[in-house]
Amino acid sequence: MRYCEKCGLPETYHGIRIGEDGVCNFCDFYEEHKEKLRDHDGLEAFFASRMEAAKEEAKRRGSKFDCLVGLSGGKDSTYVIYQLRRKYNMRVLAFTVDNGFSTQFGTDNVKNALDKLQVEHIRITPDDEMLRKFYEKSLQLLKNFCGVCFHLIHYYSYLLASQYGIPVIVNGRTRGQILQSAAAERGIEPFEISHSLKEFEYQMFGRLVDKLDGYSCIDLLHGVEAEDLSFFMYHKVSDEEVLETLERELGWIKPVSSVPHADCWAHPMAEYLCMKKFGYPVRTGETAVLVREEEMTKEEAKALIEGDCAQYDHVDPELQERFDARVRQRR
Ligand SMILES: [Zn+2]
Repeated sequence: MRYCEKCGLPETYHGIRIGEDGVCNFCDFYEEHKEKLRDHDGLEAFFASRMEAAKEEAKRRGSKFDCLVGLSGGKDSTYVIYQLRRKYNMRVLAFTVDNGFSTQFGTDNVKNALDKLQVEHIRITPDDEMLRKFYEKSLQLLKNFCGVCFHLIHYYSYLLASQYGIPVIVNGRTRGQILQSAAAERGIEPFEISHSLKEFEYQMFGRLVDKLDGYSCIDLLHGVEAEDLSFFMYHKVSDEEVLETLERELGWIKPVSSVPHADCWAHPMAEYLCMKKFGYPVRTGETAVLVREEEMTKEEAKALIEGDCAQYDHVDPELQERFDARVRQRR
């Protein structure tokens, strides 16, 4: 097995090409755009200017809210709302999509954060049979199910933004989640800002979006326009800093385990499916980003990934059963 000499990604990684110099195309892309990606002051100033523009625009439209944020109950989305309230003084509308996968940890933290931050919140409960159909189809076609939630959350963001006249959506995707597939400048933040659901989903799923759209498998809300910014693309904050701030300012309740995505009980299932499909765990690309950004060494990333591999190469039968019962269509 060959590995990229710089970031340590394996040659089996989705979309990778390792050159004769032993360096991968993702590292080449990062190197080429390093200056912009590391201009943290410039990126933050850009974000601040967009928030000011959003306040003006909301006032002009007579909208009750300046921005919209999807709140999962995880640390990232909670931190985004905290900063939008306290630092940017934004009038935030928060919303949560009930997908039947949220944990007690996530639910408690949503309630706690809403109490302390004084933001209005909408809870959306999609038709359960429709959800089951989406999950089943996604498992059949893509061998995973996370894309369904990504899509639904962003679908409802654009829908709510359009209904309430909200000019900007701010999401809690991490730098790792965004930059893990950044190998060509195809509308990736911060180089290009998305204004429609289709542009936004292009950043995550690439051409798959066109394919699904053509088969009417996805509802893209054509014609709805709102700016969508990923908070962490413009703010350099470590996980530790996020947690510290939340604990200090909001009395954040820590999850019992250190497994990532503590707000979704099916996360180990997603890891297992990723291992089966690609042979590596979910955060492989994200840790490679941390290596490129010099926040982690190649060896530390390797140890993390090996730990995940050992943990997720099998799935607890009880979890499998609970998962099947959640996604299987009942009619
Ligand atoms: Zn690399």
